[in-house]
Amino acid sequence: AGAGLPVGRFAPSPTGPLHFGSIVAAVGSCLAARAAGGRWLLRIEDVDAPRSVPGAADGILRTLARFGFEWDGPVVWQSARTSAYEAAFERLRAAGRVFGCACTRKEMADSALARDGTRRYPGTCRDGLPAGREARAWRLRVAPGVVSFEDTVQGAVEEDVAADVGDFVLLRADGLFAYQLAVVVDDAEAGVTDVVRGADLLDSTPRQILLQRALGYPTPRYAHLPVAGNAAGEKLSKQTLARAVEDARPQQVLADALDFLGQAPPDGLADASLDALWAWARANWSMDRVPRQRLVPAPRYG
Ligand code: GLU
Repeated sequence: AGAGLPVGRFAPSPTGPLHFGSIVAAVGSCLAARAAGGRWLLRIEDVDAPRSVPGAADGILRTLARFGFEWDGPVVWQSARTSAYEAAFERLRAAGRVFGCACTRKEMADSALARDGTRRYPGTCRDGLPAGREARAWRLRVAPGVVSFEDTVQGAVEEDVAADVGDFVLLRADGLFAYQLAVVVDDAEAGVTDVVRGADLLDSTPRQILLQRALGYPTPRYAHLPVAGNAAGEKLSKQTLARAVEDARPQQVLADALDFLGQAPPDGLADASLDALWAWARANWSMDRVPRQRLVPAPRYG
C-alpha cells in the first residue's frame, strides 16, 4: 500500500480458539483496511506467556486461513519482540518517566480501598521505594489531566488516567512487559494507522495514547466495534463458554459477522463462495453502519 492508505491489524491473544466476537474484530479490522486499499497485519499477542494456551495460536492461524483471511507480511509474535519492548522501556526510563514499585497486589488493594474505595494505584512508591524494599514492577509516571480522543464508532471518549488508573505497570513483577506497552510499540513499529478492535479495549486506549505521547509515536485512528454478547448480556469469552467457530461453516459465520456489524448482507450470502462473500464485503463495507454500541447480543453464538 502506498502513502496515505490505511494500515490495520488483528491482534488475537492465544488464550483459546476464536469465537464469534474474535471473528467480528477480525472482519471489521480487515475490511476497514482492505475496502480502502490498505494493508492488514496479523499479530499474535503472546506477550503474556503464562496466559497463552499451547496450540491456541496455531488453531487461530488455521481458522483464519480457512475463513479466507489474507494478511500482509509475516505474522508478528510478541514473544519474539522482547528487545523492542526493552528499548522502548529504556527510553522511558532514561527520560525519567518510569519508577520502580515495591508494592504487592495485596498491599495496593488494601491501601487504595482504604483511601478512597477505588482500584487506582495509590502512588506509594512514586517518590521513592520505602526503606528496605526492592522494586518488583516498573510503572509509568502519569501526570494529571484528561486524555480525549474521537472514536470512529463510539464517539468522543475521555478519561483522566491519573485519577482512574494512576501510574500503570509497564514491566511486571514476573519480568514480562505489560500488554499496554507491547501493543503501543508493536502498532507504532508496524506503522498501524487504524486500530479496529472490540469495545472491551476502549478502557485501555487512553493509557495507550499516553504511552504513544511519551514515546513520540503518532496516535492512530481508533474504531471500537461492539462486542458480541450472550443472551445474559455478557461478553462472549471462554468464561461464558462461547462456542468456538473452528468447526462452523466459514460463510455462515462471516455473513453473521457482517450482519452483526450492520452491513446488511444480502440473503444467500452465506451460501456464496468464500471469494464471492469477501468480494461483496470489500465492495460494500461501511464503518458508518456499525452499531454505535459497546455490546450487541449474538444469540446464535452465545
Ligand atoms: N490481544 C487483545 C485481545 O485479544 C487485542 C489487543 C488489541 O487489539 O489491541 O483481546
